Amino acid sequence: MTDYYKELGTTKSATQEEIKKAYRKSALQYHPDKNQGNPEAEKKFKKISEAYEVLSDENKRRIYDQYGADAVKNGMGGMGGGGHHGGFSSMEEALHTFMGAFGGGGGGSQESIFDSFFGGGGFDGGGHSSARQGASKRMNLSLSFEEAIRGVEKEVSLTNYAYCGTCEGSGAATSSSIKTCSKCGGRGQVHQSRGFFNMATVCPNCSGKGKTISDPCKSCHGEGRVKKKQNTTIKVPPGVDSGMQMKMAGYGDAGEGGGPAGDLYVHITVANHKFFQRDGDDLLIEVPITFCEAALGAKKEIPTALGGALKLNIPEGTQSGKILKIKGEGVPNVHGQGKGDMLVKLLVETPVDLSEKQKSVLAEFAELEKDHNSPRKKTFFDKIKVLFS
Ligand SMILES: [Zn+2]
Ligand SMILES: [Zn+2]
Repeated sequence: MTDYYKELGTTKSATQEEIKKAYRKSALQYHPDKNQGNPEAEKKFKKISEAYEVLSDENKRRIYDQYGADAVKNGMGGMGGGGHHGGFSSMEEALHTFMGAFGGGGGGSQESIFDSFFGGGGFDGGGHSSARQGASKRMNLSLSFEEAIRGVEKEVSLTNYAYCGTCEGSGAATSSSIKTCSKCGGRGQVHQSRGFFNMATVCPNCSGKGKTISDPCKSCHGEGRVKKKQNTTIKVPPGVDSGMQMKMAGYGDAGEGGGPAGDLYVHITVANHKFFQRDGDDLLIEVPITFCEAALGAKKEIPTALGGALKLNIPEGTQSGKILKIKGEGVPNVHGQGKGDMLVKLLVETPVDLSEKQKSVLAEFAELEKDHNSPRKKTFFDKIKVLFS
């Protein structure tokens, strides 16, 4: 599986700024201008461009984090639909993305790339910024048996820290009121000498933020984020089961100091079904049949888990406990790997509450019974005989 983070040499927790930086670095290294006649570099360049195209778009990144590269390429939704094919069909496209990352675009000469790289504030001096990731959250989601099989979209209400809309998360009323902390030089830490030890502690002037705000945003009191109740739609893929956990990247608390948001972990609980049981992707159902149906064979309709019906062919001479496997009528695999089977366990029910007429017919049948009608019984008593002798 393609790991876009690995392609870019970054990690899942990277901020947009870090992703952009990582991309610039490797894109410059593998740029076709610098690697003429090197097909390996060209391949790598396309790959990192593809990775960047996805990870630089918060929406695509979220889908990728949750469902993987294929989901992004298929345009999510799964069911065909528009079907943008991801990846880059041509080097032009890949280069276009590359230029896009530098803001400029236009020229395309090596100089212009480096200009915007070094001049345009690509590096933000300090290095150790004090951006902190927001807290991750956990929630339980209860689903009906059918919802788990079919997949479902559930709207839930979450109270999270969200980026403040007034100041766009900066915490400042005006951008000019944000200053690099004079005490720590933006590092968020100060060093203190105690005897032989040089200890780093959180800067008391900026509380580790590395920046000070002289005119804080009124909506969030300078925090850059506010507690907000929001409705979120959780897209549950078909095939989930009790005990599974879905990660929704970026749906936790907004980060502090421009840090990335935390994640939301959704714990799935699936209700039991009256008739069906799940065993992974297989569905189990027990179906009682009569003694005559088992002996003579029969055709039966049985329900499917999603409300349809299936024709079941019970062969002549079926024994109690026999399991019939119906291929592909189970649960869709949650990772998109086909479907499980339906396993129908046939249980022969001994007739009860017989009328006189029924009894006499059965007694007549008993007279006619032969050893070969019940092979298991015959074998058993043949073997057990030795114990009596
Ligand atoms: Zn604010
Ligand atoms: Zn400071």
